[in-house]
Amino acid sequence: MNDSPQPSRIAFIGAGNMASAIFGGMLDSGYPAEAIVATSRSQEKRDDISQRYGIRTMQDNLAAVQQADVVVLAVKPQMMRDLCLSLRESVQARRPLIVSVAAGLDAATLDNWLGGDLAVIRCMPNTPSLVGAGASGLYANARVSDAQRQLVAELLTSVGLVEWVEQEAQIEAVTAISGSGPAYFFLFMESLEAAGVELGLSTESARRLALQTAFGAAKMARESVFDPAELRRRVTSPNGTTERAIQTFEEAGLADIVGRATQACAERARELS
Ligand code: NAD
Repeated sequence: MNDSPQPSRIAFIGAGNMASAIFGGMLDSGYPAEAIVATSRSQEKRDDISQRYGIRTMQDNLAAVQQADVVVLAVKPQMMRDLCLSLRESVQARRPLIVSVAAGLDAATLDNWLGGDLAVIRCMPNTPSLVGAGASGLYANARVSDAQRQLVAELLTSVGLVEWVEQEAQIEAVTAISGSGPAYFFLFMESLEAAGVELGLSTESARRLALQTAFGAAKMARESVFDPAELRRRVTSPNGTTERAIQTFEEAGLADIVGRATQACAERARELS
């Protein structure tokens, strides 16, 4: 696919939040607009997307598939079965690479709904993809070529970090860490803000300080040569203020709570698949 001088043609089926985050990122990284098409059932949405992103939009999913090298399925999981069955004939005629961002649907199920024997990549993105700071876990079935892997990794790198997993079951771990992870950090920010108010700050001040601290800590951890544990040790002086707070978290079993929360998340992901 990458041997061709032409860029791969990508069709997004279901131009919602996640699809527009991905094609928006691709366009920002220089992917040619002419090679991207997105479908939506709403005329208003199609007009909005064409105007905002300069890509082609269409109502007809089959027409979009018929011209695509890669088909990104980006509708809600509960819509996926009907969508796949409706695409089956076109997909089998053209045999594009299938990329699904739907939570909880495994590659074999999608392949089966689409008629079988297809190259399928399953992707678990997260909401910070909407601001170009996402983290996506990817699983490829055995039919996916190295060139196809590389292409999809490039496309998703335009909205953040890409991490391959070799076993599909590991997607549940990805869901528990990065898929649902933004909400854990939002919860911590909420708690920090409330604690700041309790200690006498205004809500606005407490929120600004909590958010900037979360951002600063993440930026520092990403840029530093030290791992997070070492960074923590370096800001925790013996018998100092930070040590007192860290001891309180440890006594309350923070690591155990995080372990249980992520197990519960992975368990729920298994139930839904
Ligand atoms: P969304 O509702 O914003 O987008 C889905 C779009 O698909 C809508 O615009 C809808 O009109 C359109 N659609 C539905 N049926 C269609 C059909 N038959 N043909 C064409 N278009 C159709 O949803 P979203 O948040 O973008 O989520 C899309 C997928 O991404 C879901 O499967 C979800 O599991 C996955 N996902 C989303 C996030 C996230 O952070 N938003 C994170 C991980 C995974």
